[in-house]
Amino acid sequence: MRTTVGIIGAGPAGLLLARLLHNAGIDSVVLESRDRAYVEHRQRAGILEQGTVDVLRAAGAGERMDREGLRHDGIELRYDKKRHRVDFPALTGGRSVTVYAQTEVCKDLIALQLKEGGPLLFEAEALAVEGADTDSPRVRFRHEGVEDVLECAYVVGCDGFWGVARSAIPAELTRVFERTYPFGWLGILADVPPSHDELVYARHDRGFALLSMRSPSVSRLYLQVPEGTDAESWGDEEIWDELERRFETEDGWRLERGPITQKSVTPMRSYVHEPMRHGRLFLAGDAAHIVPPTGAKGLNLAVGDVVTFARALTHREETGSDDLLDAYSATCLSRVWQAERFSYDMTTLLHRAPDATPFEDRLQIARLERIASSRAAETDLAEGYTGFPFG
Ligand SMILES: Cc1cc2nc3c(=O)[nH]c(=O)nc-3n(C[C@H](O)[C@H](O)[C@H](O)COP(=O)(O)OP(=O)(O)OC[C@H]3O[C@@H](n4cnc5c(N)ncnc54)[C@H](O)[C@@H]3O)c2cc1C
Repeated sequence: MRTTVGIIGAGPAGLLLARLLHNAGIDSVVLESRDRAYVEHRQRAGILEQGTVDVLRAAGAGERMDREGLRHDGIELRYDKKRHRVDFPALTGGRSVTVYAQTEVCKDLIALQLKEGGPLLFEAEALAVEGADTDSPRVRFRHEGVEDVLECAYVVGCDGFWGVARSAIPAELTRVFERTYPFGWLGILADVPPSHDELVYARHDRGFALLSMRSPSVSRLYLQVPEGTDAESWGDEEIWDELERRFETEDGWRLERGPITQKSVTPMRSYVHEPMRHGRLFLAGDAAHIVPPTGAKGLNLAVGDVVTFARALTHREETGSDDLLDAYSATCLSRVWQAERFSYDMTTLLHRAPDATPFEDRLQIARLERIASSRAAETDLAEGYTGFPFG
């Protein structure tokens, strides 16, 4: 099998890249180790930055998102039983975010790819990338029990944090920057309308809580829990009781309860792999970097990477110049590090470390008070949340 761009992974990064390349007249093949149902139902991100919305729309993948996505013009910060709303458009010259689940983005892109794009093979597991530093890199993969080789001009590893592409970059050329956090998020999906019409980020002495949503009838809520917590060790009523405590306000705001349909724990990690390119192998999305979900940046970073790659390859096809491909890693990394910084700041602003001292507690409150009282501090948060420009 032969193609111009071999794409490993059909998460948001791989699927959107295939779409962007198709629109630019460049052929690709997508290899995905899981089956279609798994990819379409894996619960993950839900917040799309303005830039991501614009890219999906321009790629012809925005029709259902425009119909069903929920535009959000702000978030609420809660601390000390107080509430402060951050108004995005007023602070950023009109920018906002859209609540539209990653599962739905993937469903839309898969449907388009199968209808009019190049091959998208499910249950096709990439085993290794070979010859990354040659003009003809290859992906060895197994599909339906049979081993095969995909001959490519370029390979893009969009295979997430646990994929194989990254390991094709020699260790001596690699630097890894990493931080793990001593807590995770216990996330639930519940069949109950969201108790607030925008996301609520709560800092509490018992730990962080987040109120989010998937649709007008489905709530998504998270609790900070110790690292290594088993989701099943939390009973449903226990979860609602704890959420109620952490979201409590002075003005009698009420959290609506409903049946919990899904429960899971997500670990928190910051991770960056440098460089994001070796020869004709390029890394995109979670394959190269992870952010803790507090800043809602992971999916949006993946979109930035593949937009950068598609532009660079289109530029090469049109002009013969490798300039933008050569700049790929540096271009992506400058945005990645801004998102790492923002996600780290949001995480340390709102979570309570197990060894937090009273001094650090007071500092967190002071940082929140600063955001609530200074337009400059609030603008910094709003700009970061609605997204950094694509390189
Ligand atoms: C609970 C949670 C909440 C989150 N919330 C947000 C949020 O609100 N906003 C946000 O922007 N981000 C959020 N994220 C992060 C976001 O989901 C990820 O950053 C995003 O999925 C990255 O997309 P990707 O395509 O790079 O990787 P992935 O989505 O991980 O996709 C990689 C794909 O590659 C496939 N694959 C792996 N290995 C192989 C192989 N060897 N061969 C073939 N295929 C392979 C995998 O099956 C997968 O389909 C959240 C994540 C979690 C876990």
